[in-house]
Amino acid sequence: MRISEIELYGLRLPLAEPYQLSRGRTFDGFDSTFIRLVTDAGIEGWGEVCPWGSSYLPAFAGALRAGVTELAPHLLGQDPRRVEVLNRLMDAELPGHLYVKALVDYGLWDILGKAAGLPVCELLGGREDHRAPVVSSLQNDSREGMLERLDGWRERGYRAHSLKLGNGGVDADIARVRALAERRREGELFLFDANGGWTPWEAIRVMNAAKGLDAWFEQPCVTYAQCLTVRRQTEQAMSLDEVIVDLPDVSRALADHACDVVNIKLARVGGLTRARRIRDLCLSAGIPMLIMCMAGTVVNDTAVAHFAQAIPEPYCLGTWACQDMVTVDPAPGRGARNIDGYMGPPALPGLGVEPDVELLGEPIARFAA
Ligand code: MG
Repeated sequence: MRISEIELYGLRLPLAEPYQLSRGRTFDGFDSTFIRLVTDAGIEGWGEVCPWGSSYLPAFAGALRAGVTELAPHLLGQDPRRVEVLNRLMDAELPGHLYVKALVDYGLWDILGKAAGLPVCELLGGREDHRAPVVSSLQNDSREGMLERLDGWRERGYRAHSLKLGNGGVDADIARVRALAERRREGELFLFDANGGWTPWEAIRVMNAAKGLDAWFEQPCVTYAQCLTVRRQTEQAMSLDEVIVDLPDVSRALADHACDVVNIKLARVGGLTRARRIRDLCLSAGIPMLIMCMAGTVVNDTAVAHFAQAIPEPYCLGTWACQDMVTVDPAPGRGARNIDGYMGPPALPGLGVEPDVELLGEPIARFAA
C-alpha cells in the first residue's frame, strides 16, 4: 500500500463566544486544517490539527500548512501503515515541528486501523474499560462570572473542570480559587489552570493561599524552570501541560519530581505515535494523564478519545472536547461525542470519523505522486 495523494483542507472555526486566557489573551475562533491521505489501495486516512490561535503555543495554522508542504514529497509513495518508520522519515526531513507531524500521524493511524479492521484504540494497546470525564474549559472571568459558568457546564453534564486563572492580579485569583474550590462537589475534578500566565512569585502566592483546599494547579508559569521553582515552594498538586512537548521533557519532569500529572495535548507532542511513548513512560512512573487536543472539531476530539481509552484506569484523569466550544461541525452526528460527561471512541475501524468533504470545500493544497 502506498500514499498516492495528499490533500489539505482549511476550515474556520468561530467560537460560540470570545474566550479569554491568562494575561488577557482573547480568541474568537481558530483556523483548523484537515489532511486526507489517499492510498493506491483505496483506503483514505484523515486527521485534523487546529492550533489555539498563534499566541498560545509555538504553533499556528500557516506554519502547519507550510510544514505539510515540505513533508508531502517525502511521504508520497510510502507505505502509510509503517507509522514509526514514517515518523522517523519526517524527523529526518524536517526536524522539530511536531504539530505538523501530528497531522500526518493521525492520517497514518486512521489508515492502519482501516487496513487492520480495528479501531485505533485497539491498535494503541487495547480498549480499557473506563469512562474518564470530559473536562470543561471554564474561561477567565470575574469570580461571579466563573461561578455562573461552572453551573452552566454542570448542566451540560460536565463533572471535571479546567478553571482558568491569571488575570486581574493575585488577590482576584485567590478570591476565585477560594470561591470555586468551596463549591466543588464530591466526585468533581477541579483543575486551576493559569496556562503559564503567572510569574513564579504570583504562582507561589496563589497556590499557598489554597492550602487546605482540594485545589490542583496546572502550568503556573511559562517555562519549565519557573514551574519547578513554584513546585519547590508550594504543596498543592501540580500538572504540567504546555512545557511537555517531547519524551525528554517527561523524563526530566519525572527526575525532578516536577509534577503529579501530565497533560498530553496530542498535536503538541506530535500525534499518536509520540504520545504513546509519553503514555508508557508516565504509566511506568505511576503518573496520571489528561488527554486533549489543541483546538478543533470532532475529528480531532475522536483521536483524543481513542488515545484516552487506551490508558488504564486510574491513569486517565480526563479528556477535553473542543467541539463543544466551536460553532462548526464537519461530521454531524459522527465521531466521539460528549454524552453525559464522557466521550468514548467509535467502535469502527481507524479513527472512525471522516469529515464531509462538501463542508470543507475545495482543498487548499494537493500533492500527488
Ligand atoms: Mg492546561
